[in-house]
Amino acid sequence: MKFEVNEHGYYGNYGGAYIPEMLFPNVQELKEKYLLIMNDASFKEEFDLLLKDYVGRPSPLYYASRLSVHYKTKIYLKREDLNHTGAHKINNTLGQILLAKRLGKTRIIAETGAGQHGVATATVCALMGLKCIVYMGEIDIERQAPNVARMKLLGAEVIPATSGSKTLKDATNEAIRDWINNPVDTYYIIGSVVGPHPYPDMVAKFQSVISEEIKTQLKEKTGKEDPDFVIACVGGGSNAAGAFYHFLDSGNVKLIAVEAAGKGVDSGHSAATSILGKPGIIHGSKTLLMQTFDGQITEPYSISAGLDYPGVGPIHAHLFETGRATFASITDEEALEAAYLLCELEGIIPALESAHAFAHLKYLNAKPDEIVVINLSGRGDKDLATYIRHKDLANE
Ligand SMILES: *Cc1c(COP(=O)(O)O)cnc(C)c1O
Repeated sequence: MKFEVNEHGYYGNYGGAYIPEMLFPNVQELKEKYLLIMNDASFKEEFDLLLKDYVGRPSPLYYASRLSVHYKTKIYLKREDLNHTGAHKINNTLGQILLAKRLGKTRIIAETGAGQHGVATATVCALMGLKCIVYMGEIDIERQAPNVARMKLLGAEVIPATSGSKTLKDATNEAIRDWINNPVDTYYIIGSVVGPHPYPDMVAKFQSVISEEIKTQLKEKTGKEDPDFVIACVGGGSNAAGAFYHFLDSGNVKLIAVEAAGKGVDSGHSAATSILGKPGIIHGSKTLLMQTFDGQITEPYSISAGLDYPGVGPIHAHLFETGRATFASITDEEALEAAYLLCELEGIIPALESAHAFAHLKYLNAKPDEIVVINLSGRGDKDLATYIRHKDLANE
């Protein structure tokens, strides 16, 4: 495959493993073993069975008829919102915990920003009976109380990161520090297609079940495997990587990655990484990164916590650079409007992250007989307070 990672962990100019020397043995172990384990028949069998019976896969591919009439094209929704725990993240945490078990690890660490990845990790740790430690910025702990409660209910220990801005990047630093100090028994579950090689490739492969299913389901429904467009939102880029994966080499399928413009791309309050970013190193890989002229990471902003990330996975930096995917950005306001529209037309409350992908429909200009697949990455229960607050504001 043309967009496959190379043996050094690069997608074109991006990727690699820029890690402190003390992490080298952990990352090396993973690099040597991940493909062997993932390609093992018994691993696949266990992963597939749990995806089916625990996660509830395959997730439906739903023809959204009223939304299709509204936009005058054919729109299918890939329903990752119907997965156990309400989003695509569980596909990845489940895959990684099975891998950790096969590596003989007994202690799991993770970092989380909004808490979604923390909950997905705590969930699979409970499932497998493994100890779970989640690092979370002190400020995020205050902002995301329901997810902190969920993680604790699931048996995880939530450790506050109290340095720096007390948010995601500080939690990541703490998790890396923990991994350095506990190299033998501990496995680090990363939540998106980011981090040092082999994480981006591994996470993309676990999430690729999304596009694998889309192909089969679309064939059943329309007689052909390939849609004209696939649209997905991008924070770190894992749901998009999963939705794009099996279409990367099909040049006739247009791939559209939607980032969060926040209050506007040029407002200084944005997370539109591919447009605003320059090459730099974050979380152990070389990628596009929002930074100041002297290379300090810029604090990102989006109304949706899951898109509020200053970098993007190296696979997306490569898709951007080569033009294989089109990168668009959507403001807070446009995402809210798209979410309200989906509620009213289809009876589906999307996650605010996913709403960014839907908002792009008004810019798409698809023809009436073209097929558009949107990855509905998660459900909107967690965003209810935001939806209600802004609806009230709009009505005042
Ligand atoms: C976390 C999250 C995202 C963003 O993460 P990606 O790695 O870019 O997929 C998108 N949608 C939902 C529902 C999420 O929870």
